[in-house]
Amino acid sequence: MTAYRTLDIEGWRAYLASTPDLASRLGGRSEGWQLREVSDGNLNNVFLVSGPLGGLCCKQSLPHVRVDPDWKMPLTRTDFEARYMRAVAPHVGHLMPALYHFDPDLHLLAMESLTPHRVLRGALATGVAAAGFSARIGEYVGRAAFLTSWRARPFEAVTEQVAAFAANTTLTRITVDLVLTAPYRAGCKRNHWLSPELDDIVGELQSDPQLASAVSRLQERFLTAPQALLHGDLHTGSIMVDGDDVRVIDGEFALYGPIGFDAGLYVGNLLLHAAANPGRLDWMCDEIETFWRHFERNYRTLWSERGRSGDIGALLDDSGQQQAQVAACHAIMKDLTGFAGLEMIRRTIGYAQVSDYDARPNRAERAEAMREALMQGRALILHAGRTETPGALLDLITL
Ligand code: ADP
Ligand code: MG
Ligand code: MG
Ligand code: MG
Repeated sequence: MTAYRTLDIEGWRAYLASTPDLASRLGGRSEGWQLREVSDGNLNNVFLVSGPLGGLCCKQSLPHVRVDPDWKMPLTRTDFEARYMRAVAPHVGHLMPALYHFDPDLHLLAMESLTPHRVLRGALATGVAAAGFSARIGEYVGRAAFLTSWRARPFEAVTEQVAAFAANTTLTRITVDLVLTAPYRAGCKRNHWLSPELDDIVGELQSDPQLASAVSRLQERFLTAPQALLHGDLHTGSIMVDGDDVRVIDGEFALYGPIGFDAGLYVGNLLLHAAANPGRLDWMCDEIETFWRHFERNYRTLWSERGRSGDIGALLDDSGQQQAQVAACHAIMKDLTGFAGLEMIRRTIGYAQVSDYDARPNRAERAEAMREALMQGRALILHAGRTETPGALLDLITL
């Protein structure tokens, strides 16, 4: 057992040089490897390494939040990321970087380096994202969700994973607090917003009993509906793109939960992008419809092919199975709608906000875009019980 230490660039060089499987992927001599830090998330250190034969992406947990050393945090988040990648790679490996190495003592990962990929949020900001990327994300969520669910696998296999990911309490606590609770709590120090421009609407969001009751329903869905293994943090900063090659990264928040949570975070981030870039609303609506079409096709096709290998639904005949698929997709769309609304609100007034708003050229326009996102988020949360199709969801946005 090696004692934990945080690796800097020279620490990583020595570590990789002494790990033959990784050194041989890079090739050449370690002195010649190029290493650079690319950390841009809130939590972890990430370095890209390249050698004459290939590259690696190296990620390590810190004993605290990367952007806030006073916020202490256990190191195990990379353990859950590795476990997640191994659990879903057989289903969606072509849509993720390959995991090469996990070290449980140093809490680090080495994976395929995605180059020249760009993080989707940045690719959208600079106009280099190619339309249609959501097809791949729909495929990802549909495949990962179905194939880790109770319909696809015997309950013993599912409960083993449910139990393993139930231990990811530190990151689940962040979601419970920052996504599902804090934005609706007046006086919570972790919120911040453009003030005084948004003071009135934030006051309304934090004193509306109807909204509090709709948010409570979503809290209950999140914590008590372990339908499938979720990524748990599927925003546009957790996706990398290069033309039509689309990959999902950063699965450290993984947990069993409602399928609409992953789908809703993704859709919520597309809607945030549209709120910040009104000229792109039609494009983002197309992406949402594309996402849903591919989600539904993948999810239902797998269900038709393999839906009798689990312990739910094995008794259904073909027509009973089709009816169950339709009902399940309607229920997922309702959850998706509510979680998308939560994401729009928390990314506008909560702890971790989105850079998409930087597209607005001045403070007054930024405030207007944020207000729009807050109103849309509220509408999605309040009306989530009646959206069964992407059209019904988009009506709440564009009406
Ligand atoms: P965090 O958990 O701290 O958010 P991420 O896993 O999101 O860390 O990685 C941080 C950044 O590192 C990403 O935004 C991306 O720019 C880069 N990155 C992550 N994984 C890869 C990869 N496999 N290949 C290339 N770059 C990557
Ligand atoms: Mg990240
Ligand atoms: Mg992360
Ligand atoms: Mg497809």
